[in-house]
Amino acid sequence: MALVNIHFLNLQSNYLFADIAKKVNAFKVMHPKADVISLGIGDVTQPLCPAVIKAMHKATEELATTEGFHGYGPEQGYPFLREAILKNDFLPRGIHLDIDEVFINDGAKSDTGNIQELLHWDNFIGVTDPIYPVYIDSNVMIGRCGTFRDGRWTNVRYIPCTAENGFVPEIPKNRHMDVIYLCYPNNPTGTVISKQELRKWVNYALKNDALILYDAAYQAYIRDPDIPRSIYEIRGARKCAIEFHSYSKTAGFTGVRCGYTIVPKDLTVSTFEGERISVNHLWNRRQCTKFNGASYISQRAAEAIYTPEGRQQVQTTIDYYMSNARLMLDTLRDLGYEVYGGENAPYLWLRTPNGTTSWQFFEELLYGANVVCTPGVGFGPSGEGYVRLTAFGSHESTKEALARIKDWTHSH
Ligand SMILES: *Cc1c(COP(=O)(O)O)cnc(C)c1O
Repeated sequence: MALVNIHFLNLQSNYLFADIAKKVNAFKVMHPKADVISLGIGDVTQPLCPAVIKAMHKATEELATTEGFHGYGPEQGYPFLREAILKNDFLPRGIHLDIDEVFINDGAKSDTGNIQELLHWDNFIGVTDPIYPVYIDSNVMIGRCGTFRDGRWTNVRYIPCTAENGFVPEIPKNRHMDVIYLCYPNNPTGTVISKQELRKWVNYALKNDALILYDAAYQAYIRDPDIPRSIYEIRGARKCAIEFHSYSKTAGFTGVRCGYTIVPKDLTVSTFEGERISVNHLWNRRQCTKFNGASYISQRAAEAIYTPEGRQQVQTTIDYYMSNARLMLDTLRDLGYEVYGGENAPYLWLRTPNGTTSWQFFEELLYGANVVCTPGVGFGPSGEGYVRLTAFGSHESTKEALARIKDWTHSH
């Protein structure tokens, strides 16, 4: 008899974006003429830059020849890309990593989800709240989170990040955490962490023998030079942290699929007997068994981001999104809304007025302004009372959405 992994049955079936789609469809059925603008989905909209397209064409042509054909590549990724990463993303910030510490992935979602399988099932995890749902769900799948009660998993430490604490996560004093997920710049709040605050987490991890899983998917959106773009800017982090990067939001690779994960060689985890095990070694073993690499074309495309033209073109698109964010922030604040994020991240986190719930505000905005947002509570209990807006739209649709929000706000 093939028995099911019962932990999958514990997953909360209502997937946030499916629920949103259902409600938007219901609205469209009732209002077939309405033109709905989404400031909800976390996908990018602008095309790949010319340098990337050129590199992809070139790689494709190579594959069409006997000499240039590439079959299975190294499971860890091609050295040309791993070297470009070290040279461009880390060395300029004084971070010296070894090429064997870089693992090319097919996007950060896979690795942020898969990394937990290296860890014993009863490690206790902590997450900042609200948070990208992949971290918790991937742990639920292995039975690590306990049971779901009142919007929370019993075996997860939720570390609230709200306007009340300035979105600065406070290290819980009363419960030891073994594994901590941090995501900065944050999805969904669009807020960032200072070096000083991040240092507290690194010190906590070093002192308590905990592991930090640091998601830096949005680091390219950081404008403030004092905000860390990598956890390895903090001394000691290579002994306690794994870092995930993605080209999805950096360079529009949501469909191309490529990113990378840093697993330092200094990082170890313990057996019950206290023997220290190299995580780099385990992850390499895992990848060689379960992963056959990102495609050659994707990796050549990613390499092109680091050329002078590529850099400049990618920056132009990031600036494009960030000018949307600026306009959203200014307009919404002028209208009297309490809005956070949007300065070093493509997300804005809006407090719903007058204690309206996330879902209630979502419906009011949809029916009143024909604009879609993402209810904050879908990202965790501390997201209640907020909605997420994204700056990933076109200028035109963003402007139009803001004009509608303005009319709607003034009309009620
Ligand atoms: C978009 C996103 C990613 C990247 O996902 P990919 O699989 O690389 O497309 C990772 N983490 C967070 C928090 C994200 O929002």
